[in-house]
Amino acid sequence: MYTTLARPLLPLALPLLLVPQPSPRLLPARAPLLRVLLPLPSLLVLIASGMSSAPTVAASTTFASGTTPTFLPNAPPLPNALSLNPANYPPLDKTPPVDSPEVQQWIKEVNATGIQIPDFAPTVAGGCPTNPDAVNDQSRCWWTCGGCAAPDDIEQCPDKMTWGLTYDDGPALYTGDLLAYLDQANLKATFFVVGSRAISYPALLQEEYMAQHQIAVHTWSHPPMTTLTNEQIIAELGWTKKVIKDVLGVTPTFWRPPYGDVDNRVRAIAKAMGLQTSIWTRISPEATFDTGDFDIAGGQTTSTQVLNNWENIIGNATTIDHGFIVLEHDLFQQTVDIAMDYILPDALAHQPPFKIEPIISCLNKPLQDAYIETNDNSSNPIGMSSAAPTGVSSASDGAHTTSPQTGASATGSASSAEASGNSSGASANGKNSAMGIAAPSSMGAIALALVSGVVALFL
Ligand SMILES: [Zn+2]
Repeated sequence: MYTTLARPLLPLALPLLLVPQPSPRLLPARAPLLRVLLPLPSLLVLIASGMSSAPTVAASTTFASGTTPTFLPNAPPLPNALSLNPANYPPLDKTPPVDSPEVQQWIKEVNATGIQIPDFAPTVAGGCPTNPDAVNDQSRCWWTCGGCAAPDDIEQCPDKMTWGLTYDDGPALYTGDLLAYLDQANLKATFFVVGSRAISYPALLQEEYMAQHQIAVHTWSHPPMTTLTNEQIIAELGWTKKVIKDVLGVTPTFWRPPYGDVDNRVRAIAKAMGLQTSIWTRISPEATFDTGDFDIAGGQTTSTQVLNNWENIIGNATTIDHGFIVLEHDLFQQTVDIAMDYILPDALAHQPPFKIEPIISCLNKPLQDAYIETNDNSSNPIGMSSAAPTGVSSASDGAHTTSPQTGASATGSASSAEASGNSSGASANGKNSAMGIAAPSSMGAIALALVSGVVALFL
Protein backbone atom coordinates (compact mmCIF):
# COMPACT_ATOMS: atom_id res chain seq x y z
CA MET A 1 0.00 0.00 0.00
CA TYR A 2 1.34 3.35 -0.97
CA THR A 3 1.79 5.97 1.67
CA THR A 4 3.35 9.28 0.96
CA LEU A 5 4.89 9.48 4.40
CA ALA A 6 6.89 6.34 3.77
CA ARG A 7 8.35 7.64 0.58
CA PRO A 8 12.05 8.44 0.81
CA LEU A 9 11.88 11.80 -0.91
CA LEU A 10 9.68 13.43 1.66
CA PRO A 11 11.32 13.14 5.09
CA LEU A 12 11.86 16.88 5.37
CA ALA A 13 8.16 17.44 4.93
CA LEU A 14 7.16 15.04 7.68
CA PRO A 15 6.68 17.56 10.48
CA LEU A 16 4.42 19.60 8.26
CA LEU A 17 2.35 16.68 7.06
CA LEU A 18 1.71 14.73 10.22
CA VAL A 19 -1.28 16.87 11.20
CA PRO A 20 -3.91 16.18 10.17
CA GLN A 21 -3.28 12.50 9.71
CA PRO A 22 -3.82 11.88 6.02
CA SER A 23 -6.22 9.36 4.70
CA PRO A 24 -5.74 7.80 1.29
CA ARG A 25 -8.49 9.90 -0.23
CA LEU A 26 -6.78 13.06 0.99
CA LEU A 27 -3.74 12.26 -1.10
CA PRO A 28 -4.57 14.45 -4.08
CA ALA A 29 -5.38 17.40 -1.85
CA ARG A 30 -2.35 17.00 0.37
CA ALA A 31 0.32 17.53 -2.23
CA PRO A 32 -0.72 21.13 -2.94
CA LEU A 33 -0.35 21.59 0.81
CA LEU A 34 3.16 20.26 0.47
CA ARG A 35 3.69 22.64 -2.37
CA VAL A 36 2.73 25.55 -0.15
CA LEU A 37 4.45 24.51 3.05
CA LEU A 38 7.60 23.15 1.49
CA PRO A 39 9.18 25.86 -0.64
CA LEU A 40 9.20 24.83 -4.27
CA PRO A 41 12.99 25.10 -4.56
CA SER A 42 13.32 22.62 -1.71
CA LEU A 43 10.98 20.21 -3.41
CA LEU A 44 12.91 20.54 -6.63
CA VAL A 45 16.20 19.93 -4.88
CA LEU A 46 14.77 16.76 -3.42
CA ILE A 47 13.56 15.55 -6.79
CA ALA A 48 16.66 16.58 -8.72
CA SER A 49 19.29 15.66 -6.21
CA GLY A 50 19.49 12.11 -7.40
CA MET A 51 18.92 10.76 -3.93
CA SER A 52 19.27 7.10 -4.60
CA SER A 53 16.65 4.95 -3.01
CA ALA A 54 14.99 1.67 -3.60
CA PRO A 55 11.56 1.66 -5.18
CA THR A 56 8.90 1.68 -2.48
CA VAL A 57 6.69 -0.75 -4.32
CA ALA A 58 8.51 -3.68 -5.88
CA ALA A 59 7.39 -5.65 -8.87
CA SER A 60 5.61 -8.74 -7.76
CA THR A 61 3.43 -11.43 -9.18
CA THR A 62 0.10 -10.80 -7.63
CA PHE A 63 -2.13 -12.51 -10.15
CA ALA A 64 -2.31 -16.23 -10.59
CA SER A 65 -2.07 -17.70 -14.02
CA GLY A 66 -5.56 -18.20 -15.39
CA THR A 67 -7.09 -15.23 -13.57
CA THR A 68 -9.79 -13.78 -15.74
CA PRO A 69 -9.93 -9.98 -16.02
CA THR A 70 -13.57 -9.48 -15.07
CA PHE A 71 -13.42 -5.76 -15.89
CA LEU A 72 -12.82 -6.51 -19.57
CA PRO A 73 -15.58 -8.32 -21.47
CA ASN A 74 -14.33 -11.31 -23.50
CA ALA A 75 -10.79 -11.01 -22.14
CA PRO A 76 -8.88 -14.31 -22.12
CA PRO A 77 -7.41 -15.67 -18.87
CA LEU A 78 -4.14 -14.13 -17.72
CA PRO A 79 -1.07 -16.10 -18.86
CA ASN A 80 1.61 -17.15 -16.39
CA ALA A 81 4.13 -14.30 -16.34
CA LEU A 82 6.71 -16.53 -14.71
CA SER A 83 6.73 -18.83 -17.70
CA LEU A 84 8.00 -16.12 -20.01
CA ASN A 85 11.28 -17.30 -21.50
CA PRO A 86 13.48 -14.46 -22.80
CA ALA A 87 15.30 -16.95 -25.02
CA ASN A 88 12.16 -17.09 -27.16
CA TYR A 89 12.47 -13.41 -28.02
CA PRO A 90 15.04 -11.23 -29.79
CA PRO A 91 17.90 -9.64 -27.83
CA LEU A 92 16.70 -6.78 -25.68
CA ASP A 93 17.04 -3.15 -26.73
CA LYS A 94 18.13 -3.83 -30.29
CA THR A 95 16.01 -3.72 -33.41
CA PRO A 96 15.11 -7.39 -33.94
CA PRO A 97 16.46 -9.26 -36.96
CA VAL A 98 14.02 -9.45 -39.87
CA ASP A 99 14.85 -12.96 -41.07
CA SER A 100 13.12 -14.80 -38.24
CA PRO A 101 10.02 -16.89 -39.07
CA GLU A 102 7.91 -14.58 -36.90
CA VAL A 103 8.92 -11.39 -38.69
CA GLN A 104 8.63 -13.03 -42.10
CA GLN A 105 5.09 -14.06 -41.21
CA TRP A 106 4.21 -10.54 -40.04
CA ILE A 107 5.60 -9.12 -43.31
CA LYS A 108 3.26 -11.43 -45.22
CA GLU A 109 0.34 -10.35 -43.08
CA VAL A 110 1.11 -6.67 -43.66
CA ASN A 111 1.25 -7.23 -47.42
CA ALA A 112 -1.99 -9.19 -47.28
CA THR A 113 -3.88 -6.21 -45.87
CA GLY A 114 -3.48 -4.39 -49.17
CA ILE A 115 -2.68 -1.19 -47.34
CA GLN A 116 -0.48 0.99 -49.51
CA ILE A 117 2.84 1.81 -47.87
CA PRO A 118 4.46 4.98 -49.21
CA ASP A 119 7.80 4.33 -50.84
CA PHE A 120 9.88 6.71 -48.76
CA ALA A 121 13.48 5.93 -47.95
CA PRO A 122 14.28 5.80 -44.24
CA THR A 123 15.55 9.05 -42.80
CA VAL A 124 19.21 9.29 -41.89
CA ALA A 125 21.05 10.18 -38.72
CA GLY A 126 20.73 13.74 -37.53
CA GLY A 127 16.99 14.25 -37.63
CA CYS A 128 15.50 17.32 -39.28
CA PRO A 129 18.72 19.18 -40.19
CA THR A 130 20.19 16.26 -42.11
CA ASN A 131 16.98 15.31 -43.91
CA PRO A 132 15.88 18.52 -45.67
CA ASP A 133 14.19 16.70 -48.54
CA ALA A 134 12.15 14.59 -46.15
CA VAL A 135 11.26 17.65 -44.10
CA ASN A 136 10.06 19.49 -47.19
CA ASP A 137 8.16 16.53 -48.64
CA GLN A 138 4.65 17.24 -47.45
CA SER A 139 3.41 13.86 -48.68
CA ARG A 140 5.68 12.29 -46.06
CA CYS A 141 3.92 14.22 -43.28
CA TRP A 142 6.76 13.86 -40.77
CA TRP A 143 5.42 14.78 -37.33
CA THR A 144 8.83 15.09 -35.69
CA CYS A 145 10.03 17.66 -38.20
CA GLY A 146 7.26 20.17 -38.71
CA GLY A 147 4.46 18.71 -36.65
CA CYS A 148 2.46 17.33 -39.57
CA ALA A 149 -0.31 15.09 -38.26
CA ALA A 150 -2.33 12.67 -40.37
CA PRO A 151 -6.10 12.65 -39.97
CA ASP A 152 -5.94 9.35 -38.08
CA ASP A 153 -3.32 10.48 -35.56
CA ILE A 154 -4.44 10.79 -31.96
CA GLU A 155 -2.95 14.05 -30.75
CA GLN A 156 -5.61 15.21 -28.35
CA CYS A 157 -8.79 14.30 -26.53
CA PRO A 158 -11.95 15.72 -28.05
CA ASP A 159 -13.54 17.11 -24.89
CA LYS A 160 -12.27 20.31 -23.30
CA MET A 161 -10.57 19.99 -19.89
CA THR A 162 -9.99 16.28 -20.48
CA TRP A 163 -6.47 14.93 -20.06
CA GLY A 164 -5.44 11.68 -21.74
CA LEU A 165 -2.91 10.56 -19.12
CA THR A 166 0.06 8.60 -20.55
CA TYR A 167 3.37 7.15 -19.36
CA ASP A 168 6.04 5.83 -21.73
CA ASP A 169 9.07 3.56 -21.72
CA GLY A 170 8.21 1.20 -18.86
CA PRO A 171 7.52 -0.94 -17.06
CA ALA A 172 10.59 -0.13 -14.98
CA LEU A 173 11.88 -0.04 -11.44
CA TYR A 174 9.64 2.76 -10.15
CA THR A 175 6.48 1.87 -12.08
CA GLY A 176 5.14 0.09 -8.98
CA ASP A 177 5.27 3.34 -7.01
CA LEU A 178 3.39 5.15 -9.75
CA LEU A 179 0.77 2.39 -9.94
CA ALA A 180 0.21 2.64 -6.20
CA TYR A 181 -0.22 6.40 -6.42
CA LEU A 182 -2.63 6.13 -9.33
CA ASP A 183 -4.62 3.51 -7.45
CA GLN A 184 -5.00 5.71 -4.38
CA ALA A 185 -5.88 8.71 -6.50
CA ASN A 186 -8.39 6.57 -8.42
CA LEU A 187 -6.75 7.42 -11.73
CA LYS A 188 -6.29 5.30 -14.85
CA ALA A 189 -3.65 5.93 -17.50
CA THR A 190 -2.35 4.67 -20.81
CA PHE A 191 1.03 2.94 -20.54
CA PHE A 192 3.07 2.84 -23.75
CA VAL A 193 5.16 -0.25 -23.14
CA VAL A 194 8.63 -1.01 -24.52
CA GLY A 195 8.73 -4.67 -25.48
CA SER A 196 12.17 -5.21 -24.00
CA ARG A 197 10.93 -3.84 -20.65
CA ALA A 198 7.97 -6.24 -20.77
CA ILE A 199 10.53 -9.05 -20.89
CA SER A 200 12.31 -7.51 -17.90
CA TYR A 201 9.20 -6.77 -15.81
CA PRO A 202 6.31 -9.02 -16.88
CA ALA A 203 4.71 -9.00 -13.43
CA LEU A 204 4.59 -5.21 -13.41
CA LEU A 205 2.99 -5.24 -16.83
CA GLN A 206 0.31 -7.57 -15.49
CA GLU A 207 -0.25 -5.24 -12.55
CA GLU A 208 -0.76 -2.30 -14.91
CA TYR A 209 -3.23 -4.29 -16.99
CA MET A 210 -5.17 -5.76 -14.09
CA ALA A 211 -5.46 -2.30 -12.51
CA GLN A 212 -7.47 -1.40 -15.63
CA HIS A 213 -4.91 0.89 -17.16
CA GLN A 214 -4.71 0.87 -20.95
CA ILE A 215 -1.69 -1.01 -22.28
CA ALA A 216 -0.29 0.13 -25.62
CA VAL A 217 2.76 -0.50 -27.81
CA HIS A 218 5.93 1.64 -27.73
CA THR A 219 8.23 -0.57 -29.89
CA TRP A 220 10.74 -3.26 -28.95
CA SER A 221 13.93 -1.20 -28.61
CA HIS A 222 12.77 2.43 -28.78
CA PRO A 223 14.40 3.55 -32.04
CA PRO A 224 13.46 6.59 -34.14
CA MET A 225 11.11 4.67 -36.40
CA THR A 226 11.53 6.75 -39.57
CA THR A 227 15.18 5.62 -39.69
CA LEU A 228 14.18 1.96 -40.02
CA THR A 229 13.38 -0.13 -43.09
CA ASN A 230 9.85 -1.40 -43.55
CA GLU A 231 10.87 -4.84 -42.31
CA GLN A 232 12.55 -3.42 -39.22
CA ILE A 233 9.45 -1.38 -38.40
CA ILE A 234 7.38 -4.56 -38.67
CA ALA A 235 9.85 -6.38 -36.41
CA GLU A 236 9.78 -3.60 -33.76
CA LEU A 237 5.99 -3.50 -33.64
CA GLY A 238 5.39 -7.23 -34.11
CA TRP A 239 7.62 -8.40 -31.28
CA THR A 240 6.17 -5.81 -28.91
CA LYS A 241 2.64 -6.88 -29.75
CA LYS A 242 3.67 -10.49 -29.23
CA VAL A 243 5.33 -10.11 -25.85
CA ILE A 244 2.41 -8.06 -24.53
CA LYS A 245 -0.01 -10.73 -25.69
CA ASP A 246 2.20 -13.44 -24.17
CA VAL A 247 2.15 -11.63 -20.81
CA LEU A 248 -1.44 -10.34 -20.79
CA GLY A 249 -3.36 -12.49 -23.23
CA VAL A 250 -4.42 -9.43 -25.21
CA THR A 251 -2.85 -7.42 -28.02
CA PRO A 252 -2.93 -3.61 -27.97
CA THR A 253 -4.59 -1.60 -30.73
CA PHE A 254 -2.78 1.66 -29.95
CA TRP A 255 0.90 2.58 -30.25
CA ARG A 256 3.08 5.65 -29.79
CA PRO A 257 6.23 6.22 -31.88
CA PRO A 258 9.31 6.91 -29.73
CA TYR A 259 10.20 10.62 -29.91
CA GLY A 260 6.98 11.09 -31.89
CA ASP A 261 9.05 10.05 -34.88
CA VAL A 262 6.41 9.06 -37.41
CA ASP A 263 5.71 9.75 -41.08
CA ASN A 264 3.19 8.34 -43.54
CA ARG A 265 5.35 5.27 -44.25
CA VAL A 266 5.55 4.36 -40.58
CA ARG A 267 1.87 5.21 -40.07
CA ALA A 268 0.79 2.92 -42.92
CA ILE A 269 2.79 -0.04 -41.59
CA ALA A 270 1.43 0.50 -38.09
CA LYS A 271 -2.10 0.65 -39.48
CA ALA A 272 -1.54 -2.56 -41.40
CA MET A 273 -0.50 -4.13 -38.11
CA GLY A 274 -3.71 -2.99 -36.41
CA LEU A 275 -2.14 -0.17 -34.44
CA GLN A 276 -3.60 3.31 -34.02
CA THR A 277 -0.88 5.98 -34.02
CA SER A 278 -1.04 8.11 -30.89
CA ILE A 279 1.24 11.05 -30.22
CA TRP A 280 0.78 14.01 -27.85
CA THR A 281 -0.73 17.45 -28.10
CA ARG A 282 1.02 20.13 -30.12
CA ILE A 283 -0.88 23.37 -30.52
CA SER A 284 2.00 25.27 -32.10
CA PRO A 285 5.73 24.81 -32.70
CA GLU A 286 6.28 26.58 -29.40
CA ALA A 287 3.62 24.75 -27.42
CA THR A 288 4.02 21.01 -27.36
CA PHE A 289 2.64 19.13 -24.40
CA ASP A 290 5.97 17.45 -23.63
CA THR A 291 7.00 17.83 -20.00
CA GLY A 292 10.62 17.06 -20.88
CA ASP A 293 10.75 14.79 -17.83
CA PHE A 294 12.78 12.14 -19.68
CA ASP A 295 15.80 14.41 -19.79
CA ILE A 296 16.15 15.01 -16.06
CA ALA A 297 17.98 11.77 -15.38
CA GLY A 298 20.53 12.44 -18.10
CA GLY A 299 21.13 16.00 -16.98
CA GLN A 300 19.89 17.62 -20.20
CA THR A 301 17.19 19.46 -18.31
CA THR A 302 16.28 20.29 -14.74
CA SER A 303 13.26 19.63 -12.59
CA THR A 304 12.71 23.37 -12.52
CA GLN A 305 12.48 23.45 -16.30
CA VAL A 306 10.13 20.47 -16.34
CA LEU A 307 7.83 22.19 -13.88
CA ASN A 308 7.99 25.35 -15.97
CA ASN A 309 6.99 23.22 -18.95
CA TRP A 310 4.16 21.75 -16.89
CA GLU A 311 2.90 25.17 -15.84
CA ASN A 312 2.80 26.20 -19.49
CA ILE A 313 1.03 23.01 -20.44
CA ILE A 314 -1.62 23.38 -17.77
CA GLY A 315 -2.08 27.02 -18.75
CA ASN A 316 -2.54 26.13 -22.41
CA ALA A 317 -4.80 23.21 -21.49
CA THR A 318 -7.33 25.55 -19.93
CA THR A 319 -7.51 27.82 -22.96
CA ILE A 320 -7.82 25.35 -25.86
CA ASP A 321 -11.27 24.20 -26.90
CA HIS A 322 -10.41 20.51 -26.79
CA GLY A 323 -8.76 18.06 -24.44
CA PHE A 324 -5.07 17.19 -24.42
CA ILE A 325 -2.44 14.47 -24.14
CA VAL A 326 0.83 15.04 -22.26
CA LEU A 327 4.13 13.20 -22.73
CA GLU A 328 5.48 11.74 -19.47
CA HIS A 329 7.56 8.68 -18.60
CA ASP A 330 7.67 5.99 -15.92
CA LEU A 331 11.24 4.94 -16.76
CA PHE A 332 13.23 6.83 -14.13
CA GLN A 333 12.90 7.64 -10.46
CA GLN A 334 12.87 11.35 -11.24
CA THR A 335 10.08 11.08 -13.80
CA VAL A 336 7.93 9.07 -11.40
CA ASP A 337 8.72 11.40 -8.49
CA ILE A 338 7.86 14.55 -10.38
CA ALA A 339 4.58 12.97 -11.53
CA MET A 340 3.55 11.87 -8.02
CA ASP A 341 4.92 14.78 -6.03
CA TYR A 342 3.92 17.64 -8.26
CA ILE A 343 2.26 17.18 -11.65
CA LEU A 344 -0.60 14.88 -10.66
CA PRO A 345 -1.40 16.62 -7.34
CA ASP A 346 -1.28 19.96 -9.13
CA ALA A 347 -3.68 18.71 -11.81
CA LEU A 348 -6.00 17.07 -9.28
CA ALA A 349 -6.24 20.30 -7.29
CA HIS A 350 -6.95 22.40 -10.37
CA GLN A 351 -10.18 24.36 -10.57
CA PRO A 352 -12.13 23.93 -12.69
CA PRO A 353 -11.28 20.23 -12.49
CA PHE A 354 -9.66 18.24 -15.24
CA LYS A 355 -11.11 14.90 -16.26
CA ILE A 356 -8.07 12.61 -16.20
CA GLU A 357 -8.32 9.26 -17.97
CA PRO A 358 -6.58 6.90 -20.44
CA ILE A 359 -6.51 7.83 -24.11
CA ILE A 360 -9.06 5.14 -25.00
CA SER A 361 -11.48 6.64 -22.47
CA CYS A 362 -10.89 10.25 -23.46
CA LEU A 363 -11.80 9.20 -26.99
CA ASN A 364 -15.13 8.03 -25.52
CA LYS A 365 -14.43 4.41 -26.41
CA PRO A 366 -14.75 1.38 -24.11
CA LEU A 367 -11.57 -0.21 -22.74
CA GLN A 368 -12.22 -3.36 -24.76
CA ASP A 369 -11.48 -1.34 -27.90
CA ALA A 370 -7.89 -1.07 -26.67
CA TYR A 371 -7.17 -4.74 -27.48
CA ILE A 372 -7.62 -6.89 -30.57
CA GLU A 373 -9.06 -9.86 -28.66
CA THR A 374 -11.76 -7.82 -26.92
CA ASN A 375 -12.48 -5.21 -29.59
CA ASP A 376 -15.73 -5.96 -31.40
CA ASN A 377 -14.80 -3.40 -34.08
CA SER A 378 -18.11 -1.65 -33.63
CA SER A 379 -16.57 1.62 -32.53
CA ASN A 380 -12.88 1.13 -33.18
CA PRO A 381 -12.33 -0.66 -36.47
CA ILE A 382 -8.56 -0.32 -36.39
CA GLY A 383 -6.76 -2.17 -39.12
CA MET A 384 -9.93 -3.13 -40.94
CA SER A 385 -9.67 -0.46 -43.58
CA SER A 386 -7.67 -0.94 -46.74
CA ALA A 387 -7.19 2.77 -47.15
CA ALA A 388 -3.82 4.24 -46.36
CA PRO A 389 -3.65 7.60 -44.65
CA THR A 390 -3.83 10.03 -47.52
CA GLY A 391 -4.55 13.37 -45.96
CA VAL A 392 -1.77 15.64 -44.83
CA SER A 393 -2.69 18.21 -42.26
CA SER A 394 -0.52 20.75 -40.60
CA ALA A 395 -0.93 20.88 -36.87
CA SER A 396 0.71 24.25 -36.68
CA ASP A 397 -1.52 26.31 -38.91
CA GLY A 398 -4.58 24.20 -39.38
CA ALA A 399 -4.07 23.99 -43.12
CA HIS A 400 -5.09 20.77 -44.76
CA THR A 401 -3.84 19.44 -48.03
CA THR A 402 -3.96 16.09 -49.70
CA SER A 403 -1.15 14.46 -51.56
CA PRO A 404 -1.05 11.34 -53.67
CA GLN A 405 1.15 8.57 -52.43
CA THR A 406 3.25 6.03 -54.11
CA GLY A 407 2.47 2.50 -53.18
CA ALA A 408 5.13 -0.02 -52.26
CA SER A 409 5.10 -3.40 -50.69
CA ALA A 410 6.16 -3.95 -47.15
CA THR A 411 9.14 -5.85 -48.39
CA GLY A 412 10.44 -2.95 -50.42
CA SER A 413 13.31 -1.93 -48.26
CA ALA A 414 15.86 0.79 -48.33
CA SER A 415 19.13 1.16 -46.61
CA SER A 416 19.01 1.18 -42.87
CA ALA A 417 20.33 4.06 -40.90
CA GLU A 418 21.12 2.80 -37.47
CA ALA A 419 22.02 6.14 -36.07
CA SER A 420 20.76 8.84 -33.84
CA GLY A 421 18.50 11.59 -34.93
CA ASN A 422 17.12 14.59 -33.27
CA SER A 423 13.92 16.49 -32.99
CA SER A 424 12.82 19.94 -33.87
CA GLY A 425 10.33 19.78 -31.05
CA ALA A 426 9.94 22.78 -28.85
CA SER A 427 9.02 22.76 -25.23
CA ALA A 428 5.91 24.37 -23.93
CA ASN A 429 7.84 27.34 -22.64
CA GLY A 430 8.49 28.52 -26.14
CA LYS A 431 12.19 27.78 -26.29
CA ASN A 432 13.66 25.28 -28.66
CA SER A 433 14.65 22.40 -26.54
CA ALA A 434 17.13 19.60 -26.70
CA MET A 435 14.34 17.13 -26.08
CA GLY A 436 14.89 14.98 -29.02
CA ILE A 437 15.85 11.63 -30.20
CA ALA A 438 18.39 10.01 -27.99
CA ALA A 439 21.16 8.05 -29.58
CA PRO A 440 20.19 4.38 -29.65
CA SER A 441 23.41 3.62 -27.86
CA SER A 442 22.42 5.77 -24.93
CA MET A 443 18.92 4.29 -24.86
CA GLY A 444 20.52 0.87 -24.91
CA ALA A 445 22.79 1.81 -22.06
CA ILE A 446 19.86 3.08 -20.04
CA ALA A 447 17.88 -0.04 -20.76
CA LEU A 448 20.76 -2.32 -19.90
CA ALA A 449 21.21 -0.46 -16.65
CA LEU A 450 17.57 -1.02 -15.84
CA VAL A 451 17.81 -4.67 -16.65
CA SER A 452 20.86 -5.11 -14.50
CA GLY A 453 19.41 -3.11 -11.65
CA VAL A 454 22.07 -0.41 -11.60
CA VAL A 455 19.78 2.43 -12.55
CA ALA A 456 21.14 4.40 -9.61
CA LEU A 457 24.22 5.11 -11.67
CA PHE A 458 22.11 7.39 -13.83
CA LEU A 459 20.38 9.21 -11.02
ZN1 LIG B 1 9.61 6.63 -25.31
